[in-house]
This record gives sequence, C-alpha cells and structure tokens, in this order.
Amino acid sequence: MASKVRLYVDQPLGQGQTVSLTKEQAHYLFGVMRLEQGAVISLFNGRDGEWDASVAEANKKGGALQCETQTRPLQMPPDLWFYFAPIKKERTDFIVEKAAEMGAARIIPVQTDFTNSGRVNQGRLQAHAIEAAEQCGGTYVPEVAEMQKLSRVLDHWDDGRQLMFCDETLVGAAQALGEVAGGKWAILIGPEGGFSDAERDRLRRQPFARSVSLGRRILRADTAAVAALTVWQQHLGDW
Ligand code: SAH
Repeated sequence: MASKVRLYVDQPLGQGQTVSLTKEQAHYLFGVMRLEQGAVISLFNGRDGEWDASVAEANKKGGALQCETQTRPLQMPPDLWFYFAPIKKERTDFIVEKAAEMGAARIIPVQTDFTNSGRVNQGRLQAHAIEAAEQCGGTYVPEVAEMQKLSRVLDHWDDGRQLMFCDETLVGAAQALGEVAGGKWAILIGPEGGFSDAERDRLRRQPFARSVSLGRRILRADTAAVAALTVWQQHLGDW
C-alpha cells in the first residue's frame, strides 16, 4: 500500500474534530491524489500532534475530514534558532527547507553588510517549511520570521542563548563546536560575500558567541547551512 498522505492544516485537531478543506487542499487530495470518501490520511497542525483523519465529504471546491485517532504526539525540536543571510531565490528556498528538515525551531533571515537580497518573501519561505515538515514526518513547523538586520538582532540578543557563529575566516582551523553546554542555541550563516570585518569583530566580542570553523574548505552558504546544522545536532541535538 502506498504511504498515507500527510497534510498540514491550520485548524485544531482532536477526537471527532471536523476539519474543513480549502479549495487547494481539496484539489490536492481529490484531484491529484484521487482520494475518495472514507479514505484515511495523516494530519498535523504543528500543535496537536499527528492524527488519522477520514474523508467525510469530497468535492471539487472543498470537503471535510474527520479526526479519528492520534497517531503521534507533538514532538518539539531542540531550542535551536537558525539565522541566515538570504542568497538567490532557489538557494534560499533550499536553506529554509533543509533547516526545517534538520530540526531548527525557528528560522530567521538576516540582513548583513554583504547580504545579496534586501527582501524575502516570508509567505513563500513559510510554505517551504510547511512542505518540508509534511515530507519529513515532522509534527512541528518552524516559524519563518521576517527578515531582520543583523545589527538589531545583536542589539536585542538574549544572553541566555548561545550562538554558533560560522566564520569563514576560520577555514581550516579545525575548530568545530568543541566542548559546549546544551540549552538555548542559535546558528548564524553569512551570505555569499561572507561577513564584513566590522560584523566579525563585533561577533567575536560577544560572550554568548562561539566562532566555529566548518572544515578545510570554504562552503557555499547553502552547504554551510546543512553542515552547521549537522554538527550542532551531532553535539547537542536530538539525533
Ligand atoms: N565569500 C566568502 C565565503 C562565504 S561562504 C569567502 O570567500 O571567504 C558563506 C557563509 O558560509 C559564511 O559567511 C559562513 O557563515 C559559512 N561558511 C562557509 N564555509 C565555512 C567554513 N569553512 N567555516 C565556517 N563557516 C563557513
């Protein structure tokens, strides 16, 4: 049997709860996946865990599902925020998708001195995070925040949150995360042009920040994102 369709919905889930479908969701379930009344799919909303739900009503413009049993409780990712400087469109999409798959709790695009793009489409990025959660079996969807200026992020930093600052000038320094304590963390990845000297100086002075090398080669920002998340998960995460 083909694996069950998984769908994110923005509605409460619980025993006997009815979930109404948008036109797009109905098109996907009944037009694309060809499901009929009585078919069972998997639902999650990022809050109430994962539920089996059956198709109670199916038509072209909408429909309804009925929640039956909870199949998994909500599983929160570690308290890891992922800051990155957006790059080209497709590569930015890739970074958000991977950060969601890799278990970031919150994804925040930051504008740095050398950030290529001044704007991001937050809604589109959020949709990518939702799709990633649907695909990877997650029950939690990381929030994709609005783009923020790095300088402002640092002005308002919560000192209880440690920062893994991925510094490309440490290339080859064989200094990955090392011995560190758990708790609240964040990762910071720069843009294609790297960090400016002023940013690097400021970051290096912060007591909460740890400058980290990601090996002997300079990685592209999207590769660096996945590598940093892997290193962090391996040391401190829920792998
Ligand atoms: N143009 C820059 C490279 C930027 S790479 C240069 O040639 O120096 C984009 C981002 O990926 C960097 O800002 C950094 O956050 C991360 N990165 C890439 N390779 C890295 C490495 N070896 N160590 C630490 N961070 C790295």
